[in-house]
Amino acid sequence: MADVALRNISKRFGTVAAVRELSLSVNDGEFMVLLGPSGAGKTTTLRLITGLETPDSGSVMIDGRDVTLAPPGARDIAFVFQQYSLYPHLTVYDNLAFPLRSPARRISEPIIKKRVEQTAELLHIASKLNNRATRLSGGEMQRVAIGRALVRDPSIYLMDEPLSSLDAKLRAELRLELKRIQLELGATILYVTHDQVEAMTMASRIGVIKDGELLQLGKPREIYESPSSSYVASRLGTPQINFLPARLLSDVPLPPGTETVGIRTEHLRLAARNGGPMVGRVHRVEHLGEQNHVHLDYKGEMLVTLADPHQPLHAGQEVELDLVQPLCFDGAGQRLPA
Ligand code: ATP
Repeated sequence: MADVALRNISKRFGTVAAVRELSLSVNDGEFMVLLGPSGAGKTTTLRLITGLETPDSGSVMIDGRDVTLAPPGARDIAFVFQQYSLYPHLTVYDNLAFPLRSPARRISEPIIKKRVEQTAELLHIASKLNNRATRLSGGEMQRVAIGRALVRDPSIYLMDEPLSSLDAKLRAELRLELKRIQLELGATILYVTHDQVEAMTMASRIGVIKDGELLQLGKPREIYESPSSSYVASRLGTPQINFLPARLLSDVPLPPGTETVGIRTEHLRLAARNGGPMVGRVHRVEHLGEQNHVHLDYKGEMLVTLADPHQPLHAGQEVELDLVQPLCFDGAGQRLPA
């Protein structure tokens, strides 16, 4: 496989700065996920790498080669889109073989057959090779679409929310499979999504992107445990991290300049009243089976935390709050060292 580097890439569309001074490198064999909300510039970043867009400034390097101005065909990249983009009238076999049959490639049919069969095995769709693409389930179609990228054996795979059109169960299944395939092939993947679970479960590194800017790049745990800003902290974790104005925590020692405190649900514990300084009132308990989400009111602010389903809690009850490892942010939302 290969590595890809973006150096200070910017791209505007009229007045919209879709990508701003973005630099990152995807290492050989890495699964990098760009995580960001709609309009963050994720698709534009991928299109700049494929050559479907040309940057206003900055450069795109593949394997150390400057390809900023090279046409898409010269870049050896495979792109998997959100929609399956299959040829409906062709069989699964022919859909998979299609990228290999271009006259320029001059690959013999026996080799094509071998590659198609290997890819189908890898994606667990070998029994569907003779089906027409339209006779497949959504999950199978998306596997074929991924397979069309895999058969080509390109230097890098770019994937634009390839699982977002699937239902939750299939998404969870294909998430595992994509990760397995990536490890098996040692593939270099740059994957974009707004789904934090996909980012946390598949990425070797996550880049958090907003308004065309890369805010933080690091291993999933690093980003989760040491977010650089309140925005990054809010992108990871379900239920979402709690934010409290620091003035409501006069009894907790905080670094100077702290304006907002971020408390992850697992760092907010509830206990019976025992004379401690922080007392909240249970507002609502949601039963999710293996755990409860407890919504509480603390000095007029709503907080959410997790509780064991066996812990007896009911609306209106007063509870004592115990904070572990609060994250501290300044007035601009930047993280302060603890
Ligand atoms: P989504 O998750 O919704 O696909 P995204 O993070 O992929 O969003 P982009 O599609 O890269 O975001 O768009 C970034 C910004 O650039 C948006 O404000 C979008 O409206 C704008 N934009 C993208 N492509 C064009 C274009 N061809 N012409 C004009 N504006 C564009």
